[in-house]
Amino acid sequence: MTTVFNAASLVREELKGLLPYQAPYYPSVLKLDANENPYPFPQAVMKEIYRETASAGFSRYPDPMAVELRESLAAYTGVNPENIMVGNGSDELILDLMLTFGTGAKFVVASPSFVMYGIQGQIASSTRLDVPRRSDFRLDVAAMQKAAAEPEVKLVVICTPNNPTGTATPRQEIEAILASTGALVVVDEAYGEFGGESCIPLLSRYPNLIILKTFSKAFGLAGLRVGYLLAGASIINELLRVKQPFNLNAFSQIAARVVMKNLDPFRERIGTILKERDRLHAELSAVPGVETFPTEANFILFRTALPAAQVYQGLLERGVLVRNVDSPSLPRCLRVSVGKPEENTTFLAGMREILAG
Ligand code: PMP
Repeated sequence: MTTVFNAASLVREELKGLLPYQAPYYPSVLKLDANENPYPFPQAVMKEIYRETASAGFSRYPDPMAVELRESLAAYTGVNPENIMVGNGSDELILDLMLTFGTGAKFVVASPSFVMYGIQGQIASSTRLDVPRRSDFRLDVAAMQKAAAEPEVKLVVICTPNNPTGTATPRQEIEAILASTGALVVVDEAYGEFGGESCIPLLSRYPNLIILKTFSKAFGLAGLRVGYLLAGASIINELLRVKQPFNLNAFSQIAARVVMKNLDPFRERIGTILKERDRLHAELSAVPGVETFPTEANFILFRTALPAAQVYQGLLERGVLVRNVDSPSLPRCLRVSVGKPEENTTFLAGMREILAG
């Protein structure tokens, strides 16, 4: 007889309400749900990655501090290598931030925003304080300052351009928050290569500023999980306490470094994506029953006259996967990533059919 063992009785109290992150995986649909770079990875850059990885060998652990990659990132960002930390995607760095500073304390999010802040916060037993954005999704700076001043708040998270709304926050507004709080201000610039003002110029003046960036969007390496964080050395020293020893694998370190040596083809793709975004935005706005929101990123938030679940399902039946972001703060809203022109055209045709009933 086997005994029934129920691990649920042992799980940490704070995790009981947390659902595992579920990303739908349909290999044969048009993937317009995760804001990835839709274009094939540049062949010449891929060849260079293979050349370098072929001579590297993978029998040894990777460089735990990713020294060479951090040097390349220093050249790209203009920030010193000692002010850079790399992660297995910026998702991992968000968790490191929560584990180092958030556990048992509170963090503020300008909401609605990227879901992983809430998930990583909950894993780390940190309490989220949502500060609603204005109706046009811009920051409510005064409300952010007020929330950041609460004594238990250790982190303030601002995503710009914001996922899923596409809204960019002017640097000046972030500066006003930085200057008014002793908490750490995390600015997530995952989509910074597509638009908005970077806060990098503020790093030298605000020791409480942390910037997150990623290779998953503009640089087409979502599959290799490379993110990085820019901050003062004292913040990095604290984060190193929780960093997993070999968090970024050897292949990904090489690939990201090679990308940094070959920026031109990526810049060209960014330009194409932005042009295509503007076409997609104009055509989607013209579909009856669709309201679009302005965007500075490689995705578009839109609201429909129909329930979001119906639009999501209708698109899936037509082979197009988008993100359903319907929630009390984003009623009847979905988010579509800018794909290749023919993908966007398929999406638009699907939308016209679905909305026409
Ligand atoms: N921040 C934001 C705002 C994002 O949208 C994403 C990806 N969805 C991430 C961070 C995570 O990126 P990574 O692939 O580097 O973990």
